Amino acid sequence: MKNYKAKSRLTAEQYIEGILEGSRVILSRAITVIESNLESDKILAKDIIQGVLPSSGNSIRIGITGVPGVGKSTFIEVFGKHLVTLGHKVAILSIDPSSQRSRGSILGDKTRMEELATLEEAYIRPSASGDTLGGVANKTGEAMFLCEAGGYDVILIETVGVGQSETAVHGMTDFFLLLMLAGAGDELQGIKKGIMEMADMVVINKADGDNVRMSELAKRQYQNALHIFPLSESGWSPEVSTASAIKNIGIDKVWETVLKFKELVDENGYFLKNRNQQQIQWMYNNINEELKNLFYGSDAIAKQLKELEKAIISSKISPVKAAQYIIEKYKETF
Ligand code: GDP
Repeated sequence: MKNYKAKSRLTAEQYIEGILEGSRVILSRAITVIESNLESDKILAKDIIQGVLPSSGNSIRIGITGVPGVGKSTFIEVFGKHLVTLGHKVAILSIDPSSQRSRGSILGDKTRMEELATLEEAYIRPSASGDTLGGVANKTGEAMFLCEAGGYDVILIETVGVGQSETAVHGMTDFFLLLMLAGAGDELQGIKKGIMEMADMVVINKADGDNVRMSELAKRQYQNALHIFPLSESGWSPEVSTASAIKNIGIDKVWETVLKFKELVDENGYFLKNRNQQQIQWMYNNINEELKNLFYGSDAIAKQLKELEKAIISSKISPVKAAQYIIEKYKETF
């Protein structure tokens, strides 16, 4: 492997070569370029992504969600180690729109997934920081392509389980895993019906000690609940199982289920169809983000928006008129 100087700026070709060679250092630096908001980095990032794209995609992408405290990081630590034992290379990415990495986010905490982090075959990257979920999700999706090109064949994308990030993760993964707890009502767990509907598998975690019976009961309840939903486009009926990350029980079952799912969707064509749809959606996500950046990034627009805010408060203009006015102004700049 080549010895890249730590500080020198690399060309897109050097980044691409380093990623394809499996250099974790270059992979990390390339993801940093993707996350950067500097205009010069944005151009470089697009070249890197374009360059690695033909080598990406050869993976299974698993989204993992559940409320804080459900045991996501403990589960991922054990699940990740299991996958490494089976000979896989695992990349763990997170989507946390509230993440301000420099201020020390929970997801960036070094103590999480301690053992997994030491393994050569595992790569853990905390969430990109950003103001909008769309922006953070786009960056995570792009980081995922880079990881795949670097030879990681299982990608785990974790959410913090609040708000809209589940939908974003579902939109970029093949298999969606929902971690739940026994005994806590759905309301308590902040799980909306829409999220249950997205799940390919529900795992009742912490099924150990006194919690085993409750977990079995919860399993049956969720099995019944999931039967009510119409069969998803994938043709897969979601499975429910219990697990204990701490006791390493039921973790192998999760992977077996992923493989069973993969076999089905490979055979019925859904895997490819879904990936293609996601690629197209990726384009639209980028257009949306870029348009927003162009619009709100304009100094002239920002100034006029401040004026319009005042005009709305003093009832000089209606919000709808104000929106129409500023869009017209923006169109004039073309
Ligand atoms: P996260 O916020 O979803 O990432 O949850 P963590 O992985 O940080 O776990 C939250 C707490 O639950 C920690 O105190 C863990 O030790 C505990 N925990 C995680 N998994 C299990 C499990 O399988 N069984 C039990 N009993 N506790 C667990």
